[in-house]
Amino acid sequence: MSEAGPAPTAPILALEDVRKVYRRGAVEVEALRGVSLSVARGEFAAVTGASGSGKSTLLAILGCLDRPTSGAYRLEGRDVAALDDDARTEVRGTRIGFVFQSFHLVPQLTVLENIAVPLFYRGMRRAAREAAAREAAEKVGIGARLDHRPAQLSGGEQQRAAIARALVVRPALLLADEPTGNLDSKNGDAVLGILCDLHRGGATIVLVTHDPRCAARAGREIRMEDGRVAA
Ligand code: ADP
Ligand code: MG
Repeated sequence: MSEAGPAPTAPILALEDVRKVYRRGAVEVEALRGVSLSVARGEFAAVTGASGSGKSTLLAILGCLDRPTSGAYRLEGRDVAALDDDARTEVRGTRIGFVFQSFHLVPQLTVLENIAVPLFYRGMRRAAREAAAREAAEKVGIGARLDHRPAQLSGGEQQRAAIARALVVRPALLLADEPTGNLDSKNGDAVLGILCDLHRGGATIVLVTHDPRCAARAGREIRMEDGRVAA
């Protein structure tokens, strides 16, 4: 079953023969062995596969957290594999939103302040930061919890706050690595429902998941097998 969203248009990203080799001392691990794929604007794709198949490595490259050992990566038409660290940091901070399995919220900050963190690093003024953070919070249904600290929230609410923080920069691409992995099934379903809503609203999402329900609700499955995309 796939969720209907706006019709996908031009590719937002394309990988061509991407390889990633990790070196640990004398040991080399080939985590990606020639991955070529493209994702259209407005697509919701689930990356699945066994543990160790390269899912997180793929997501790190898509998110400009890491760079390919060889091969090409174009994001919004730009060759991002070739960029230096500063330029990749800029792309990461402005074009990409991340959601992780553990929420990575700052315990001392309120929900509102946590959501606004990425804007702080952009030098945006406080009133504008808070307005944008409120808007992102409303989108994920966490608008009534803005003055709470993360520890006062359920896991599902914390993950919503983390999604709002990812959205606050209005990224072109939303990446999520096992976002329901630390949640019970009810909260996991709620978080998945939010991702589906965002997709219907036009967001481009790439989601790594072990959860067959997640994969079923995305419009597309990219199955990794031993560092390659399975046919
Ligand atoms: P998955 O997310 O599908 O479980 P990963 O992308 O994390 O897979 O890992 C793919 C392969 O690369 C595995 O064999 C893993 O042990 C290895 N690997 C991942 N990250 C590193 C690293 N930083 N250093 C060395 N090997 C790594
Ligand atoms: Mg992983």
